[in-house]
Amino acid sequence: MPTPLIELRNLHASADGAPILRGVNLTLNIGEVHALMGPNGAGKSTLASVIMGHPGYEITAGEIFLNGENIAEWTPDERARAGIFLAFQYPEAISGVSVVQFLRQAIAARKGLEELSVLEVRLDLAEWMDRLGMDPAFAERHLNDGFSGGERKRNEVLQMALLEPVVALLDETDSGLDIDALRVVARGVRTVRDEHPEMAALVVTHYVKLLDEIKPDQVHILVDGRIVQSGGPELAQEIETKGYDAWKAVDA
Ligand code: ADP
Ligand code: MG
Repeated sequence: MPTPLIELRNLHASADGAPILRGVNLTLNIGEVHALMGPNGAGKSTLASVIMGHPGYEITAGEIFLNGENIAEWTPDERARAGIFLAFQYPEAISGVSVVQFLRQAIAARKGLEELSVLEVRLDLAEWMDRLGMDPAFAERHLNDGFSGGERKRNEVLQMALLEPVVALLDETDSGLDIDALRVVARGVRTVRDEHPEMAALVVTHYVKLLDEIKPDQVHILVDGRIVQSGGPELAQEIETKGYDAWKAVDA
């Protein structure tokens, strides 16, 4: 058996002393895409944040392994440099920072470089925007300055494409997104995987339609801080018809 890329073992985490994750076990191998589903408040976003090392959460038990190494004590920066990617969520518009400037900083941080030539970033960016069918003018837009849901997703997908993560954590926090915005993500994941088949991804989503396009290797249902069932894409279909009630009952 090869070493798993990411392995969560009995992961417990809390925020402000309140337990949120209550024993998560999850294994992602190289090149695998897993979907994480579950009702609101189950802990999906927390799980993504804890893998990334968000300082607002405390690991109270269990381990996170990356290529067999326990990374629970690593800083978010160290994890980013090792190739763990969580699309950056900026709370408000960062005025004056364009998409291309932001990406330049993010790529430099990922690669541990002080500086990165703007020209190089622009060339890579232009190539990826073309591949993803995006308007070149988007690179000059200012971050979140009137971004639609679809534009925020385009920005996330570009980050993922250019940062070349080992494992991408994609959190569909925005339940108000329309189907076109979700397609941006689905198509983006597919396109980036075509280029980097070894990339693994954990996609948090409510939308079975998104999964039709992403075709995850596994689907997990998180309820109350625990994975209560794992299966193939058919599990997502089951959720679509039944809702989460059946699984909530299992957990009670
Ligand atoms: P999901 O993404 O599945 O909807 P979250 O991970 O956002 O769920 O939240 C899980 C639970 O943990 C919720 O009850 C939420 O209020 C709580 N929670 C999440 N983050 C924090 C935090 N930083 N401080 C306190 N409580 C939090
Ligand atoms: Mg969430």
